[in-house]
Amino acid sequence: MNRLQAYKYELMPTTGQARDMRGFAGSCRFVFNKALILQKENYEAGRKFISYVEMAKQLTAWRNGADTPWLKDAPTHPLQHALKDLERAYKNFFAKRAGFPRFRKKGRSDSFRYPDPKQFRIDQANSRIFLPKLGWLRYRNSRDALGTAKNVTVSQSCGKWFVSIQTEREVGQPVPQAAGMVGIDMGIARFATLSNGTFYAPLNSFRRHQARLRKAQRAMSRKAKFGKNWKKARSRVQRIHARIGNARRDYLHKTTTTISQNHAMVCVEDLQVRNMSRSAAGSTERPGKHVRAKSGLNKAILDQGWFEFRRQLDYKLAWNGGYLIAVPPQNTSRACPRCNHVSKDNRQTQSRFACMSCGYENHADVVGAINVLERGQRLLACGETAQSGRSVKQEPAEATQVETA
Ligand SMILES: [Zn+2]
Repeated sequence: MNRLQAYKYELMPTTGQARDMRGFAGSCRFVFNKALILQKENYEAGRKFISYVEMAKQLTAWRNGADTPWLKDAPTHPLQHALKDLERAYKNFFAKRAGFPRFRKKGRSDSFRYPDPKQFRIDQANSRIFLPKLGWLRYRNSRDALGTAKNVTVSQSCGKWFVSIQTEREVGQPVPQAAGMVGIDMGIARFATLSNGTFYAPLNSFRRHQARLRKAQRAMSRKAKFGKNWKKARSRVQRIHARIGNARRDYLHKTTTTISQNHAMVCVEDLQVRNMSRSAAGSTERPGKHVRAKSGLNKAILDQGWFEFRRQLDYKLAWNGGYLIAVPPQNTSRACPRCNHVSKDNRQTQSRFACMSCGYENHADVVGAINVLERGQRLLACGETAQSGRSVKQEPAEATQVETA
């Protein structure tokens, strides 16, 4: 079994390296946007799509031309990769997986990728990485990256630079360590409840951050736009967003790791997860926007959380030789697990389940999880296992376990 994994570390660049990286990210953004303009003009003129190969030839001309001689300062491969990114964005758009490609903006997409392993060298023993035109860069090594490095992405967030190393390695077909099967009920008061009674605190338990965020946003709105104080306030908002995002990611990773290590088969409700935009939960890149969306920040976080929770469970279970089973969600909260009596009266309050027919009592979320488990077992018995996560329409997910130092 081939395992792809990404390891993310914080870089510790020199002042010159940081300046160069900003420049390279800017050049990649420029190339992406210029190519997008060309494609748009081309389309409006009724001509056919410009292929990557054709566009890469143009890139060579831009680098050697008189208008943009500074493009020569940036490494070639990341510039070409920006064109590949654009081509993929178009492909996703044509296949109706994504909206029309958008222009990249400074401060939002400050990243570039070295797609060719021949171009970089990683010296893990000394916590440093060699990148073309940048030289050796030191990074905070939290743990070693395993496997053969395939590509490297450099990115900036909240004034810090990170390197993400994607590796590939062959691992033996895993044998499930835990024979157990468990059902999960997803909720608001409790983020996840297992059929064995274990439960996890709600995802919106980051209220503390959120109060601080609202305060910072109000402070920002009072400042003169684009002024010095406004910029200061904005960077504070961005930092809080990053902190919320990190806490949430960390929480989801810990939860899904624990569950996937302790159970070979996990049953979840096959909820219709909407086609969510990546920015739904006010990401670091775009603070302030979407936050006051109709559905509210909490709702967005919840949605994003459930989607991400399932995605992580799916690949982590696969790593451990187990799998995720999606079951039809109808009546899981209203059916009695003992006598199968279905009634909305069985659920007397949000948290309390008491069967009107046989008197069975339990926490309503545990009942939900037991019903999910029972349906999963029935599906297995019929041999019609529906592997969930993957039935959801989405781009093929990269299995990433990201660790930030
Ligand atoms: Zn009953």
